[in-house]
Amino acid sequence: MTQIQAKRALITGITGQDGSYLAELLLEKGYEVHGFIRRSSSFNTARIDHIYQESQAENHRLILHFADLTDGSRLVTLLNEIQPDEVYNLAAQSHVRVSFDEPEYTADTTGLGTVRLLEAIRASGLNCRFYQASSSEMFGATPPPQNEDTPFYPRSPYGVAKVYSYWITKNYREAYGMFACNGILFNHESPRRGGTFVTRKITRAVARIAAGEQNELFMGNLDSVRDWGYAPEFVEGMWRMLQHDTPEDFVLATNTGYTVRDFLQFSFERVNLDWEKYVKFDERYLRPTEVDALIGDPGKAGSLLGWTPKVLTPQLAEIMVDADIAALEIEGRHYVDTPVKLG
Ligand code: NDP
Ligand code: GDP
Repeated sequence: MTQIQAKRALITGITGQDGSYLAELLLEKGYEVHGFIRRSSSFNTARIDHIYQESQAENHRLILHFADLTDGSRLVTLLNEIQPDEVYNLAAQSHVRVSFDEPEYTADTTGLGTVRLLEAIRASGLNCRFYQASSSEMFGATPPPQNEDTPFYPRSPYGVAKVYSYWITKNYREAYGMFACNGILFNHESPRRGGTFVTRKITRAVARIAAGEQNELFMGNLDSVRDWGYAPEFVEGMWRMLQHDTPEDFVLATNTGYTVRDFLQFSFERVNLDWEKYVKFDERYLRPTEVDALIGDPGKAGSLLGWTPKVLTPQLAEIMVDADIAALEIEGRHYVDTPVKLG
């Protein structure tokens, strides 16, 4: 009897928001999943601990390796060892504001990290499919709606590094015939979003304010417009790109735009509070150059991949606020259902 070999995927950035959802999805689909993690003095695997334990019980289908995108020789060693069918490059210094403080490190990880990984694939002689986590931040100052043909005009060291990665991915596709795709993803969020991104910063604060643990929230520019979708739906789109017949680039977005102010309103409304009573301005959260408006047209992904997002921003805010309230309740810190009276 011939046994069908499970497909093997490698995810860089598996400990991040998207990496954790993608690992869950691929394990559900029967893949053997390999992930790169970084050595840290504190625990950094909280988003994948639940699947790591389950996976240990299920014949070790999730395997973790220490690696860093700044260490090219380690990438070659591991690509040779793992021999993946699909590689998802999600690792990056992914915070736009931080990229102004650490531009060189951001270029090294978010930009050069991609070519190190592509070179490791090439040096290993692998015939695998490659996904690059490209970003709507590449469009930057080019006004919406943005699609696959929209010119890039990045407005941060992060955006510039992502443009490099986009082009090097395309170049390896054209030069070496690699099945390499760029997913140009607009902002996507979830209860697993890092706490310093604007949506999660807001929903965590709402939960704490509703529980009487906080009474102010300091924010930067409230006028910028973003197209915020739901991360679990977006990782499904990544997988579909690598199952398509030909390697192409795709925008994933909801095609709707809301301001940061709108997101504040949706989130505070969920607990019957008026955001204007709590939000204060702090110039530390402004960026030297801002991206004013991102709204993506996902028409190509809809027609070629059958991908359509269902969760739009107002519902996303509710999902995230509810999850942050539930997280506090697990710790015995309760949401007070009547608005908190502040002095
Ligand atoms: P996160 O910030 O949540 O996760 C980033 C991941 O990259 C973490 O696992 C982190 O590890 C890892 N990482 C960072 N630096 C290195 C390095 N030098 N070597 C190896 N691993 C590293 O990002 P998301 O999950 O939100 O996003 C995934 C990818 O998609 C990123 O590339 C991001 O830039 C891109 N993207 C995200 C969008 C979004 O809205 N979420 C929109 C468009 C693109 P550790 O946990 O140890 O820090
Ligand atoms: P980005 O789109 O990748 O930069 O994602 P962020 O969630 O970091 O920021 C989204 C928008 O919110 C940007 O236009 C920020 O300038 C704006 N913003 C306003 N206040 C804040 C804040 O306190 N923190 C963050 N991260 N962004 C803020």
